[in-house]
Amino acid sequence: MRDYHTHTFRCKHAQGDVEDYAKYAVEYGIDVLGVSDHTALPDNWIPEIRMDISELPDYVEAIEKAQKKYPQLRILKGMECEYEKKYYSFFQEELLGKWGFDYLILGQHLFYCDGQLVYFWKDIKGAKELKVYTDLLVSGMESGLFTFVAHPDAFGSFYLRWDEEAKACSRYIIEAAEAYHLPLEINGHGFRKGEIKTAQGVRLKYPLPPFWELASQYNVQVLVNSDAHQPQEVGAFLTEGQELVERYGLEIIDLLEFLEL
Ligand SMILES: [Zn+2]
Ligand SMILES: [Zn+2]
Repeated sequence: MRDYHTHTFRCKHAQGDVEDYAKYAVEYGIDVLGVSDHTALPDNWIPEIRMDISELPDYVEAIEKAQKKYPQLRILKGMECEYEKKYYSFFQEELLGKWGFDYLILGQHLFYCDGQLVYFWKDIKGAKELKVYTDLLVSGMESGLFTFVAHPDAFGSFYLRWDEEAKACSRYIIEAAEAYHLPLEINGHGFRKGEIKTAQGVRLKYPLPPFWELASQYNVQVLVNSDAHQPQEVGAFLTEGQELVERYGLEIIDLLEFLEL
């Protein structure tokens, strides 16, 4: 089993360091562990959900130490990033270049809409915010910096209806994934986030089954990750994610082969 999306204490809302996740991964029978904490940013934008820029060397060192301590486990050096054009050179030259990251994940957790900061997990929003989220996500996909898209359907947390707007935005994201050969992630953490009441019934915030049903109509690849925020969450809910893969006949890829590492 493989899991390419996990965090560490540095993002301030997860527990444990790389070695704790690695130890658990070995016990759980995982053979590839991707460590992908919420990225540091040069201007420390919204510091409460990410590591400080000064912690970057320590994060890299923690990964390299764990790689030495657990040689039976393949540990990859990753980062989960919000896209903004102004960070392009930081991602490209610092993370992928200087620090030699194996991969970057695109995960759009917050964004500005009409000058207001929108956190996807905080408030219920409308079609305008959905459109801004979608456009920003797709511009990140176009940037060529990222290896896959985390929880593309996380807009289900703030946009409650599955309507024409939701379908159009989903199609736009899925078409970009097809055009840029960018796998989409079914995110295990969503199964833990609980349910939400909508006019169309009670459902998970994400994953959104109709999004994945729509994805099955395109030539796109998917992967399932835990998005663990605690060591014992490594590998969690992969079975539930796999169930969606099977239900809709989606094409699953292994990231290691995809990355040609
Ligand atoms: Zn997180
Ligand atoms: Zn994550």
